[in-house]
Amino acid sequence: MPQETTTRVVIVGAGPAGLTLGNLLHARGERCVVIDKFDRAQLLGRARAGLLEHRTVATIERMGLAKRLFAEGHRHTGCEFRSAGRRDYTDFAELYEGRSHHVYPQQEVVADLLAGLVDAGGDVRLGVTAERVGTDGDGVLVHLSDGTTVRGEFLAGADGQHGITRTGVPEGAATEYGMRHEFQWLTLLASAPPSAEWTIYAQHERGFAGHLLRSDTVTRFHLQVPVGDDVAAWPDERIWTELRARLAHPGWTLNEGPVISKNMLDMRSRVIEPMRFGRLFLLGDAAHIISPSGGKGMNLAVADAVELDRVLAEFDAAGADPSVLDRYSERRLPDIWRAQEFSHALLHMMHTYDPAAPDAAFRQRLQQSRLWQLTQSEAYATSFARSYIGPLPITG
Ligand SMILES: Cc1cc2nc3c(=O)[nH]c(=O)nc-3n(C[C@H](O)[C@H](O)[C@H](O)COP(=O)(O)OP(=O)(O)OC[C@H]3O[C@@H](n4cnc5c(N)ncnc54)[C@H](O)[C@@H]3O)c2cc1C
Repeated sequence: MPQETTTRVVIVGAGPAGLTLGNLLHARGERCVVIDKFDRAQLLGRARAGLLEHRTVATIERMGLAKRLFAEGHRHTGCEFRSAGRRDYTDFAELYEGRSHHVYPQQEVVADLLAGLVDAGGDVRLGVTAERVGTDGDGVLVHLSDGTTVRGEFLAGADGQHGITRTGVPEGAATEYGMRHEFQWLTLLASAPPSAEWTIYAQHERGFAGHLLRSDTVTRFHLQVPVGDDVAAWPDERIWTELRARLAHPGWTLNEGPVISKNMLDMRSRVIEPMRFGRLFLLGDAAHIISPSGGKGMNLAVADAVELDRVLAEFDAAGADPSVLDRYSERRLPDIWRAQEFSHALLHMMHTYDPAAPDAAFRQRLQQSRLWQLTQSEAYATSFARSYIGPLPITG
């Protein structure tokens, strides 16, 4: 490996954002280097998201990498809401011109994106940490843990919420908007076939429970737990007792199986504005994190990459006019805030408030009104479906 490589775009992070950008740039004949501190096995061992918006599927298809997704993933057209003894199914595809989600685990998306880039001859360096980022004349310089450096015209910070590329943001140039939610989730993967062919969100006096599809043999569950609880307080038997109680409905059976993994989820949301600082662009979780409610994080990461690729192409077409680069933040932020608003609303639609809170009963009534509108008002349900399934793909 030469001590220094020169490329056009240095991409730190080989998650959904970094690998999507790498594939799109490579397909246009642009030079880029993708760097990740994880080796291949670690990268493909990260089971996280699984709900792909239709625009995410369209992007993967456009890159020619959707073969396995269509063969092994499942089309997901609706959701069930359970509350106060009722179960209501909302058919999002019917409400949104046939558009749907696909269920396909994030680690499989990453595997396909990685294979696509490597097979096409892309420069992907795994198991190497970006330790320092800096500027150098008109370009950027990234120092790696193996002693090498990569010099580029642009730096794409796709290194997740704890990455280091944000250290390249000039002092005072960014505003960070954040909030900690008043809820906490225990999330788990169980080696159990799904108990329904769709997602179930259950609002129950004991707390929220979610049943989310992953594959024919693995199901993800979310449980609202008291804020501050530790995983140790939740042995498997307690988890199943709660899931059985909160998801219960006459005639319906919960499929159970060994718990493969369980974690407490950090229920925080954050957006950094703007998302471009000179030659540094932030993508995905490096720029924004969103509550897991509604499954938007990976989809936003992929959408950021699509937009950045488009803006870089427009920059070249405009004779390297730097003002064109501002379009990245201008176009991405409205979509990111729309997703934040939706995720926040869904969170508050399904969670149980602390009964000791003085406004708990009032908020509970608001919640019931939202659920009622979702099942009784087609206009409300259509708006919900559009937000849930996500906007149309970027074209042109
Ligand atoms: C349990 C769970 C469930 C979720 N469910 C959903 C869902 O259903 N739908 C959805 O859309 N989203 C979901 N999400 C969110 C989604 O997983 C993230 O939003 C997504 O991974 C963001 O992608 P990314 O490429 O921005 O970052 P990441 O996937 O975090 O990738 C960042 C990469 O950068 C690398 N890196 C970090 N620092 C360095 C460094 N210094 N040098 C080199 N490499 C570095 C990391 O190793 C990592 O591979 C879920 C998340 C969790 C935890």
